[in-house]
Amino acid sequence: AHQIVLSSRPKGHPTLDNFGRSDVELPSLGEGEVLVKSLFLSVDPYMRGRMNDAKSYVPPFAIDAPLAGGGVGEVIESNTPGFAVGDLVTGMLAWRDYNVAEAKHLLKIPTSSIPASAYLGILGMPGMTAYVGLFDLGKPKKGETVFVSGAGGAVGSAVGQMAKIAGAKVIGSAGGSKKCARLIEMGFDVAIDYKEAPIMNQLMEAATDGVDVYFDNVGGDHLVAALEATNDFARLVLCGAISQYNNETYQPGPGNLFRAIQRRLTITGFIVSDHGSRRDEFLKDVSSWISDGKLTYDETFVDGLENAPEAFMGLFSGLNTGKMVVRL
Ligand code: NDP
Repeated sequence: AHQIVLSSRPKGHPTLDNFGRSDVELPSLGEGEVLVKSLFLSVDPYMRGRMNDAKSYVPPFAIDAPLAGGGVGEVIESNTPGFAVGDLVTGMLAWRDYNVAEAKHLLKIPTSSIPASAYLGILGMPGMTAYVGLFDLGKPKKGETVFVSGAGGAVGSAVGQMAKIAGAKVIGSAGGSKKCARLIEMGFDVAIDYKEAPIMNQLMEAATDGVDVYFDNVGGDHLVAALEATNDFARLVLCGAISQYNNETYQPGPGNLFRAIQRRLTITGFIVSDHGSRRDEFLKDVSSWISDGKLTYDETFVDGLENAPEAFMGLFSGLNTGKMVVRL
């Protein structure tokens, strides 16, 4: 199989030099295993953390070993009852064109009108992140104001639309006028182009009733602005901090964190994998919102396994609208 490996650990922003290509011979199928042909591979911001040699909630990628993440593939050969040749599956796959995988770690994708790649985005990890982060932790009420940063991306675009379903006023921030126009089409009330002017000024102006829920995908100046705009008893859901992932040293934290005391804020960090018990409800709700036309989603496809590094690096320059997916 062809594979993309981590050849060196990035310092700051990842570059093409950090990735390599090699070929491996796959082992023959053991019991309970299937041979999966990769159709779609996911690149996600959290993978940046796995490129560092540091302890976190997922272990680091090893040097000269393939990167890995969520994937969708087709069963080509099976040694497992219940998994037939031609079945579409999703689960963790190495950045390879073919993988031998343990069937018990794969989920069969049901045939439906929703394309299989959606299991990497709206019906997969990012969609579930939006769902549990917003509903279980942010708990928006009808008429409240929700602010979500990174709103043009996989998680953020879902958060904003789900907050509309909950009856909130929704403000989203994203880079560029095109992404902002897309947010308005998706039903956001206000879209802030953070590249146009400082996020602080724009948010203070947009949040005429203050912010009751902030869903943070970006950190840094966005978090400072959100803290400043909060109402008493607002909830801040810390999901990601993509503006900080490539920093070589820690930047000073929000200078206005004392707002948390004054305004009795609830600030919660979370990791989606702790919320697996919500999976069935998530899939049921989101599938029906999609078929009812209440929720839509975008995907940006980058073609070819060899272009997976470009796709991954593109997350940090805003190349994607909606979910970034490598299509093989
Ligand atoms: P996205 O689809 O949102 O892709 C990343 C986007 O981030 C880019 O398109 C870009 O959009 C934006 N971005 C990149 N750099 C910056 C910057 N310096 N400042 C502001 N925006 C920036 O990714 P996901 O939806 O997959 O993930 C969103 C966030 O959620 C990430 O922080 C991720 O780590 C986190 N996450 C957390 C999980 C959890 O369990 N806690 C699970 C999944 C994701 P733009 O053009 O707008 O700049």
